Amino acid sequence: MKILSAKWVLPISSEPIVDGAVIVEGERITAVGTRDEILGRFPSAMVEDFGEAAILPGFVNCHSHLEITAMRGALDDVEHDFRSWLLKLNGLRAAMSDEEIGEAAFHGALEGSRAGVTCFGDIGRSGHAGFEALKRAGLRGVLYQETEFSPDDRTAEEDFARLREKFASLSGNATELVEVGLSPHSPYTVSRDLFRLIAEFASANEVKVSIHAAESADEDELVLTGNGFFTEVYAKFGVEWTSPRTSSIEYLESTGILDARPLLAHCVTVSESDIAIIKRTGSSIAHCPKSNAKFGHGYAPFERFLDSGVPVGLGSDSVASNNMCDILEESRFAALVARNRPGSARFISASEVLRAATLGGAAAMGLDEKIGTLEPGKYADIAVIAMDHPGQQPVNDIETALVFSSTSRDVIETLVNGKSVLKP
Ligand SMILES: [Zn+2]
Repeated sequence: MKILSAKWVLPISSEPIVDGAVIVEGERITAVGTRDEILGRFPSAMVEDFGEAAILPGFVNCHSHLEITAMRGALDDVEHDFRSWLLKLNGLRAAMSDEEIGEAAFHGALEGSRAGVTCFGDIGRSGHAGFEALKRAGLRGVLYQETEFSPDDRTAEEDFARLREKFASLSGNATELVEVGLSPHSPYTVSRDLFRLIAEFASANEVKVSIHAAESADEDELVLTGNGFFTEVYAKFGVEWTSPRTSSIEYLESTGILDARPLLAHCVTVSESDIAIIKRTGSSIAHCPKSNAKFGHGYAPFERFLDSGVPVGLGSDSVASNNMCDILEESRFAALVARNRPGSARFISASEVLRAATLGGAAAMGLDEKIGTLEPGKYADIAVIAMDHPGQQPVNDIETALVFSSTSRDVIETLVNGKSVLKP
């Protein structure tokens, strides 16, 4: 048994505790309270005191692409054009060996552990790179095996067979910490029949699903009218893809995939009725404000997501489009752009955004019974953030000091299942 103590403990499930402590026994948290209370109960226990610091649940980065960590900064010249970005990315990826991709993915996972991120929702096209990276770094996560470019109904059965094979090969190596899900990439790169097959399989086997959805005005136009940015690609590959002439979210619902309660990444262009569908189907949202801004895709209505009661977490997206995995910075950015969004319904508080960065992400990934708060019974996935930098002084309010004056570089300890993963 060990006791972690610090000037502030933020359980997230309850108000911050001044001069707090957390008891960790093995993999789990067994008590949270004031330092006096906890030390009074266990006067001879080993205490690790972090002093002027904050102990909180580890951050959940619920949308990432670790396997393209090597492309950090390599795509910034084409970021104004999403299609060119995707095409350049594919070219760069094809020129790299599996070892290079794997090593970069591991460094991406290390960036996360140094940033207090204890859990990733990682999308993998190759699958193995992100999966092995999370395991090697000792982190928790779900690796969502992504579909290949498969928008044609005529090949849906074969596309699904290939996907199932990749899924099975990863699932055989899943661990207590890292599980495997599926990611049909997007409404316009996956056929209706393939969505249906994935939906049936995922619902029958309780497999977690994540989808890029309603990410841009270009996607909107394509799904709604059948015209626009991807039509040349379909023509080039001789693909038959018919626009459903609805919103992306309505279309996804019509395929049956929302029955699998997927985690929907981005949701920038969603309407109130789309949000109502997301809520009704028990789906969730990975909010990626920095990636959305870097592509110029617009503002996702973050406060509307929160007010609707949909589980919403934060995602860095890939470092090729962010260019960093720093959930504190993502939180700050999320709060700032939500406040500044034209038509913003209200101000987002620091407390709400910290909740999204921890418990929200855990709930969005279906992991909130295991992680996301500091409460007895939960796994000891914990981040410790130093609060003694001059740029954080004075700490008048611990939540605003964390969100508005701290970054990942203030993180001094990261635990997963009670074990340090800061320097694996
Ligand atoms: Zn993404």
